[in-house]
Amino acid sequence: MKLHEYEAKKIFKEYGIPVPESFLINKGDDLNSINVDKEVVLKAQVLVGGRGKVGGILFASNKEEFIKKANELFNKEVKGEKVEKILVEEKLPIEKEYYVSIIIDRDAKKPLIIFSTKGGVDIEEVAEREPEKIIKYHIDIKKPFLPYIARWIVKDAKLPSNEIGKVADVIYKLYKIFKDLDATMVEINPLVITKDGNVYAADAVLHLDDDAAFRHNYEMFEEYKNKEKLPFAYVELDGDVAVIGNGAGLTLASMDIINNLGRKPACFLDIGGGADTETVKLALKKVLENKNVKGIFINILGGITRCDEVAKGIIEVLKEHPNIKFAVRMMGTNEEIGKKILEEHGIPYETSMEEAGKKLIEMLS
Ligand code: GDP
Ligand code: MN
Repeated sequence: MKLHEYEAKKIFKEYGIPVPESFLINKGDDLNSINVDKEVVLKAQVLVGGRGKVGGILFASNKEEFIKKANELFNKEVKGEKVEKILVEEKLPIEKEYYVSIIIDRDAKKPLIIFSTKGGVDIEEVAEREPEKIIKYHIDIKKPFLPYIARWIVKDAKLPSNEIGKVADVIYKLYKIFKDLDATMVEINPLVITKDGNVYAADAVLHLDDDAAFRHNYEMFEEYKNKEKLPFAYVELDGDVAVIGNGAGLTLASMDIINNLGRKPACFLDIGGGADTETVKLALKKVLENKNVKGIFINILGGITRCDEVAKGIIEVLKEHPNIKFAVRMMGTNEEIGKKILEEHGIPYETSMEEAGKKLIEMLS
């Protein structure tokens, strides 16, 4: 789960990481009642990075400008995402921009702190052009992460002595957040040093591990806990052919078939092993929620999953959607009964997945 900047900053503040003074506005709010008498930054609250480069960050220095810029942002899409909320912050007098993040290094199986004195830009770019400007530190999770370790990191980066304490303190607290909240990634870019020598998290990215939601009481986790729990694995994609299979491998192979035939999958949906009629119905309803879907490719290899159960689910849902094109590949346990059910309802099926895929693409073209 990705948090919005304003949510992440709320947590930063609780942990004592300095963030700029701010307030949040929502689309539709009465902007006339808001008084702006100093320079502010208007930041679109969307879950994509690099907002600055695409006009998602605007500046204003009085009320009139503020209203104009806020309306401009609310009427804009930032990298395809509609702007519903804007974080309005005091504008910081920036002297320097640093970078700090903590991620999980899956090769080393350890959290990794990344620090750079070259912030405010893409870290990938810095890594490529000036790798010497990046400090990496792996954390040994068996030992406590003590403040002196954070100070080592910034000393390595050759920060001026008056900044070391403040920046190290941010890193120390950032790791505390990372650990306490079961984060998978936390990033401050830029970590700002102001002209008067103070440190601020000017931006905030925080990704939390969904599977840890149950052990947290944060508001944002509540929302996640209340989300529908699907009895299958579903990943929405940007094509228009929904792919449903049983087993991740078979579903991926089905996606390959669609890709090889020149079309793009609209999703990956693995109904898992032993899915019953109800699960199949839910799966089909889920893919039909996506309005881009023009066709559905259903690929079932019956083992503990019974073809008759799957067939029943298919007829119940798809007879209500006469316009949707679909092809079924089905074989294995109770194949004969399943086929009979499909035949009785005039639903085409194949036992070869390549044939089923071809048939569907023909219908769609
Ligand atoms: P991102 O583009 O989505 O990463 O959004 P950021 O919050 O990082 O803002 C992008 C850039 O806008 C920063 O790197 C800064 O250069 C600039 N910016 C953001 N906030 C301030 C501010 O308070 N003062 C000044 N002077 N610049 C800011
Ligand atoms: Mn940023």
